[in-house]
Amino acid sequence: NRLISQIAAGEVVERPASIIKELVENSLDAGASRIGVDVEEGGLRRILIEDDGCGVPADQLSLAVARHATSKIDSLDALEAVSSLGFRGEALASIASVAELTLTSRVAGADRAYAISPHIDSQPRPAAGAPGTRVEVRELFARIPARRKFLRAPATEFKHIRHAFNQLALSRFDVGFTLRHGGVESAALAACSNDDNRKQRAAHVLGREFDDHAVAVDESAAGMRLTGWIATPGFSRGQADRQYSFVNGRPIRDKVFNHAVRLAYRDLLHNQRHPAYVLYLTLDPRQVDVNAHPAKAEVRFRQSRLVHDFVFRSVSRALAAVEA
Ligand code: ADP
Ligand code: MG
Repeated sequence: NRLISQIAAGEVVERPASIIKELVENSLDAGASRIGVDVEEGGLRRILIEDDGCGVPADQLSLAVARHATSKIDSLDALEAVSSLGFRGEALASIASVAELTLTSRVAGADRAYAISPHIDSQPRPAAGAPGTRVEVRELFARIPARRKFLRAPATEFKHIRHAFNQLALSRFDVGFTLRHGGVESAALAACSNDDNRKQRAAHVLGREFDDHAVAVDESAAGMRLTGWIATPGFSRGQADRQYSFVNGRPIRDKVFNHAVRLAYRDLLHNQRHPAYVLYLTLDPRQVDVNAHPAKAEVRFRQSRLVHDFVFRSVSRALAAVEA
């Protein structure tokens, strides 16, 4: 039922940035080593994601765009052990219910690509394309004025896209990413092979001065590890969107975590109320509840006091080393 699909789509498809997150995660799940994101008018007119991943066989294309069809889970056991980013089988179907979606894919060894556009035809047709997958999304919410109304101007939507793209790029340094807006290249990030490359990627995202005015963090205690980079006093005042935190590889937004970092800065550097940082916390997965909501990035730490103190001490130590 189309209406139910459209309501459910609200869960994963809030705005162009959330579509991009879902599609890029699919590309990552498909083992892509290069992912291109190309948007027009803040993604409102068109979103195009291209990858060099494993592809979808022609006979599975219509299943891929069907609701609750996923190739990633085949049993309840698999559901518990899931390591792939998506496993609900909802993203493509949800997007297809609120926009014109075309999925084009070619698996390694196939002599051509096949495409499916659920709004036109439920059967795949031969198409041109290199090995990998291309997903094109046009006319988002064009036929759903109530939803379209909540979207902002293209420039604002692009800011959200940029943020989602940055989070993805900072979570997978081994993958190359490009971002284009209206035909103009906004980011071209080659896959990173060493720490210098990785810091340069972080600097590309946070601002070029970050390369010179940030220090590496690498602290471990009590089964936790904190790595990444934090801005030093030479870094010009950061904005709120210059704070990137990841827990077990996933971008998160967490008050406990942010507070711990802010407190360390407040003690040592009074002038940085919104410090810039890219930080990765790893800990036993059983110590975190990842919110089941696919679009939100909230977590709950089982021992939040312990996490807070660890993050605070680690950041303080890294900052103190700079001061010294
Ligand atoms: P989920 O990711 O939860 O499985 P999606 O609706 O996002 O659900 O995707 C449905 C299916 O389509 C996936 O399980 C996968 O088999 C296939 N698929 C989607 N995108 C890609 C891609 N970029 N490369 C290869 N397969 C893909
Ligand atoms: Mg998915």
